[in-house]
Amino acid sequence: MGSTDRIKNVAARVAKWHDAGHQVVVVPSAMSGETNRLIGLAKEIMGQPDPRELDMICSTGEQVSVGLLAMALLAIGKDAVSYAGWQVAIKTDSSFTKARIQSIDDTKVRADLDSGKIVIIAGFQGVDDDGNISTLGRGGSDTSAVAIAAALKADECLIFTDVDGVYTTDPRVVSDARRLKTVTFEEMLEMASLGSKVLQSRSVEFAGNYRVPTRVLSSLTDPLLPLAEEAASGTLISFEEDTNMEQAVISGIAFNRDEAKITILGVPDKPGVAYHILGPVADANIEVDMIIQNQSVDGKTDFTFTVSRGEYAKAMAVLEGVRSEIGAASVLGDAKVSKVSVVGVGMRSHVGVASQMFRTLSEEGINILMISTSEIKISVLIDEKYMELAVRALHKTFELEKV
Ligand code: ASP
Ligand code: MG
Repeated sequence: MGSTDRIKNVAARVAKWHDAGHQVVVVPSAMSGETNRLIGLAKEIMGQPDPRELDMICSTGEQVSVGLLAMALLAIGKDAVSYAGWQVAIKTDSSFTKARIQSIDDTKVRADLDSGKIVIIAGFQGVDDDGNISTLGRGGSDTSAVAIAAALKADECLIFTDVDGVYTTDPRVVSDARRLKTVTFEEMLEMASLGSKVLQSRSVEFAGNYRVPTRVLSSLTDPLLPLAEEAASGTLISFEEDTNMEQAVISGIAFNRDEAKITILGVPDKPGVAYHILGPVADANIEVDMIIQNQSVDGKTDFTFTVSRGEYAKAMAVLEGVRSEIGAASVLGDAKVSKVSVVGVGMRSHVGVASQMFRTLSEEGINILMISTSEIKISVLIDEKYMELAVRALHKTFELEKV
């Protein structure tokens, strides 16, 4: 929501659903740019803002949105009421700036809905056991919406956003990327964690764990678009067993540009090697993704892992610090690598996806630095300068432009 006109638009859209007989709860995010503005103010005062106080500040963006939206509904004659997270209450743990929702009390909301009201609840925020306001991490209003839908056992959670759905890959990289009508939550979870930033990945976990059918659709359409048309638009995140359609083997190509690779050379190959390398990295709160340990030669082995590029310098410093202790010869790093992944639940029942992927990359002359797999995805690490080429070639190989 970028302006009061846009808020009036949202009100018209919400009224349309309510007029059709639905009970509606709306979970707005802050107005565009507002959360960034608030974080900027905090940083002007304190370089590393205190997390509790930062949440106090950042949660105000959503509080403004809910009040304005409730007013916009009242102004067109609809009965509406807004709540901050603590008023509901949406209980979270106390990890400020990245809190996790623990429980949602639906009593008040349900009573309001039953009396015909439209309920507007602030996204992104909650309250801990001691009454402190918390926030759920950037993009957290997605998670608020899905969690509230789960608590209320809603028929569907509609996430209106600035894209019109989930695509086979980023349309800015592949111009004939196609919008998916449905995607399973497991695929969506892989794609979200692999860098397709359509939804906060925690919201997808919630949708999966609580079986909330969730639809991603455009907020830029005409708010008075016929309801049936709107209800069928976007991408539905559904459950594998509920989709009786023929599943494509691959649903999408995800990528993450900003990866970094670290290799520890010549480590004595004995029990505890991996632990002594990755222990200090974990202690420094750095998340490790792909890991490879080579076959040992003459009692020595090489150990390679990846971290996100933003944590590369920190991880290198940690390893330089423990290098002599673990008896490693040297530590090498490469911060210009990217990860490309093919994702699809169809992989479970099809063989040959990996070889098709590797053939495509080889035909393009792209060297694979690391490989990792799960049941429904294959990821490769490659030089960042070939990332877009790899994504385009794989999109073509798996014919993702075709329905
Ligand atoms: N306003 C918060 C943010 O900008 C939450 C959200 O938009 O989902 O991250
Ligand atoms: Mg968002």
